[in-house]
Parts: sequence; C-alpha cells; structure tokens
Amino acid sequence: MDSSTEIAEAKEAEAVPDISLPLTSSIEKAARIIADADGLVIAAGVGMGVDSGLSDFRGTEGFWKAYPALARCRIHFEDIACPGSFHTHPRLAWGFYGHRLQLYRQTKPHAGFGLLKAIGARMPRGTFVFTRNVDGHFQRAGFDVDRICERHGSIHRLQCLEPCSDATWSADDFRPRIDSERCQLLSRAPICPTCGGPARPNVLMFGDWAWNGRYAEAQEASLLEWRETVKKLAIIEIGAGSTIPTVRQFSESLDAPLIRINPKEADVPFGDSVSLPLPALTAIDRIARAVLENWTTDCTFAKVE
Ligand SMILES: [Zn+2]
Repeated sequence: MDSSTEIAEAKEAEAVPDISLPLTSSIEKAARIIADADGLVIAAGVGMGVDSGLSDFRGTEGFWKAYPALARCRIHFEDIACPGSFHTHPRLAWGFYGHRLQLYRQTKPHAGFGLLKAIGARMPRGTFVFTRNVDGHFQRAGFDVDRICERHGSIHRLQCLEPCSDATWSADDFRPRIDSERCQLLSRAPICPTCGGPARPNVLMFGDWAWNGRYAEAQEASLLEWRETVKKLAIIEIGAGSTIPTVRQFSESLDAPLIRINPKEADVPFGDSVSLPLPALTAIDRIARAVLENWTTDCTFAKVE
C-alpha cells in the first residue's frame, strides 16, 4: 500500500479537525525537522490514545468514570493496577485487566497512527516506536512489530504471577467474559503453562517487583541498535506527561530535535525543539499536511520560505 492510499484511508477513518489554528510557525518548524531527518522515533504516552476514545486515567475522577464498579468501592487506580490485587482479589483484578484487554482489542486506533506511518514510510531509515502504552495500538495500526518498544510491557502478553521463569506468552487465546457492572471476571483466569499457577498481564504495574521486563528490554536494545544507523534523527513525542516520565526522559536522552505534543505539558528542554500544546490527532494532522504536501516526489522537502 503506498503512503497516499494510507493517508486517504486514515482520513476516511476519522474526521480530522480544522487546521486553521494558530501555532503555524511551530508546525512549519516541526515539518522541517521531520523533512530533514532520515529516521523518526515516535515516542508515545497515554495521551496518544485519547483521540481513539481511550481513557488516560487522568486523576481519580477520570479513572472512576471509566470504571464505576471500582468507584463504588472507592478503589483507586494504584490499588487495582498492582500485582497484589492478583494475589488478594484475582477476579476483580482480571475484571479490570480483562475489560481493558477487550477494549483495546475492539478499539480502532485513530487516524493519527496512519499519518505517522505515512510520514515514516518516506524516510530512508523509517520509524521506531517507543511507548509506555500497553494497548498494542501501534501493531494494530500496521507498524512493523520489530520496530516497536513497549517499555511498560503489553496487555496482549501474559507472564507467571510468581514468576516461576522468564517466559512471557501471547494472550490471544485468553477471551475473558467480564461482568462490567461488578468489574468481575466470569470465565476461567489464565494459568502459567510452566508451573500451573496463576498468570497475569505482562504489564508494569505500581510497586511491581515481579514484572518480567525481558521482552521490553530486548525491544529497547533493538531500538538503540537502529538509532546507530540513523544519521539525522527526529523525535515526535505525543501525549507523554511528567507524572510517569518514562517517555519524556527517553525522548530527551536521544540527543536529537524533539517535537513535543502535549495539550498541558508541552515545555521543551532544547532550543532546536518544538513545543505543540495540542491534542494528539490535531497536531499530527497539521504536521502531516505540512510535511506530506511539501514533499516532492524524489523525497526531498520543497523549501518554502
Ligand atoms: Zn509459573
């Protein structure tokens, strides 16, 4: 599929917002950084999923709005998103994670994913994704699975609760039945194929000393190896907040021009970086138009002064 078809499909997938907005010079600067680069890191936090209709779990009220059953019991995000909940209340813990697994399987990634893919397809070294999102939406949007680093794991993989080994495995065979009203797993919970004990999502949780990070570490090693092959790197960071700064710290460690998209925390640390205080899809759409409409057929950027 060529990139123009991808753009057309991405546009069809969702109505894109009005681009007659301020920040034009910042958008142009971002487009120029991307056009001058031969490789692109896409660094994504929870804000990337908001335009797909996913909750960013921002604040207690936001979390409880998404999970009313937990609100009724005054259970906070940190109380359920921890390994202890699988030991003490496994049906409730799976009610939460099983619901999220189903939600992420059913939700279509927004048009911004396709636009980023189209931009990356024009670059000699392509893209590498670094994300702390566990939803698997870059894979769903068709990004190369070998060019994705899921630094906090994936809800689409499982591991032993203990854990008894370093193994992780696909959650594809796990089809949970959930009572959403009560946030309870009704069907059988997955088990570890090695020891027969309970399994859990291969997702980094709060206070999680039992998370198996081998898979994520191997992905990050691949990313750093790829980075060595890129002469002029650009980074586009989307929806990554400072409360859990994994993505922001990684972006800033790469020593390359950074385009930071964040409606509330868009401050940038370097002079050659760009701050875009906009929602993810709005910003990506505007950048994509600026980049793709000025890129000539021989993949050089038409300089418009
Ligand atoms: Zn085990």
